[in-house]
Amino acid sequence: MVGMRLGLGDKILYKEPRSACFRHTAMVPKTTVDDETREFLKALPKCEHHVHLEGTLSPELLFQLVEKNNVKLPSDFPEDAVELHKRYLQFTGLDDFLEFYYIGMSALVTKEDFESLAYNYFVRAHEDNVHNAEVFFDPQAHTERGIDLETVVEGFTAGRRRAEETLGITTKLIMCLLKHLPVASSVKTVHDAHHHVQMGRIHGIGLDSSEKNNNPLKYKDVFDTARRLNWDIKYTAHAGEEGPSHYVKEALDHLEVDRVDHGVTSANDPALLERLAKTRTLLTVCPLSNLKLRVINDISELPIPKLLEAGVPFSINGDDPAYFGGYCLDNYLVVHEHFNLDRATWCSIAEAGIRGSWVTKTRMDELLDHLEKVRDIYIPSYIAS
Ligand SMILES: [Zn+2]
Repeated sequence: MVGMRLGLGDKILYKEPRSACFRHTAMVPKTTVDDETREFLKALPKCEHHVHLEGTLSPELLFQLVEKNNVKLPSDFPEDAVELHKRYLQFTGLDDFLEFYYIGMSALVTKEDFESLAYNYFVRAHEDNVHNAEVFFDPQAHTERGIDLETVVEGFTAGRRRAEETLGITTKLIMCLLKHLPVASSVKTVHDAHHHVQMGRIHGIGLDSSEKNNNPLKYKDVFDTARRLNWDIKYTAHAGEEGPSHYVKEALDHLEVDRVDHGVTSANDPALLERLAKTRTLLTVCPLSNLKLRVINDISELPIPKLLEAGVPFSINGDDPAYFGGYCLDNYLVVHEHFNLDRATWCSIAEAGIRGSWVTKTRMDELLDHLEKVRDIYIPSYIAS
């Protein structure tokens, strides 16, 4: 693909504040976007809605935690961070990635591990001018290996609070249920999470993991269970990543989700696009993830023009940035590189992300004001219609 080069030589070390516990690294794609446009894209106030905290675990941190926590990795696992970075460049698809993803998270054991992982992601996101981050975690991937839900949620909550206090960003925690496990496991997890939701530590329910042969309709009981508990939360689901566009419809019709994660295959169905536009249902699009997991062969295959033309709101996100070679801004840059969108269009994308966020009216107004200031600086002739 044009201008995109991934390689070990491109590794950039992220310099983190003294209070953070771990070094945060990522394989960052080089970009051909000019400096002025890069500055504009960086300045846009961003809302990230699709990041798995476990997917921000870099190979370097993984090996540090494996040593600290005395975790045993499979015998055929890459032996160091350099080898693991190389393997991450060769994912054959979603399920191949997920195998590494679940092994990786086995390195997370203590509350402090979860807190640091979350906090370090928020620090990194803040560097890209992410002002509101609504992040996923996979409780079952931890409880299935004997880590208490309490440890996980308390750790992530401590990381969120520290980030909100020190960085001034807003954050939400979304509990994702795993599609590759029996539905009964997800129903149990919903019940187990009850007091965390009541304490305001969990703000949404999501659905992730393998999509092949996993129609969202299968999980209706899980979402109905959560709804019967009368929680004041939001709902989302991964759908239409590798799966067909009708999975997006199933998620809307049967899970009654407030937004759809990925949803890119919706572009194959004009009636569905019309519905998403009419109901202002946000798609959380993840360009580098789609590329690395071979949902697309090139970023130019992303349906960005179709979504814009149909008026479907979408945000641009990192998904599992430590695995896919780029954080939020890197995804903005790669989209710009291939679609060369004008500044007004970029502002409209940022606005859709703000309006699709699960924030208070006051916070939304703050973020919209911030966007207005960026518009005034970078598009002096802009007149709101
Ligand atoms: Zn995801």
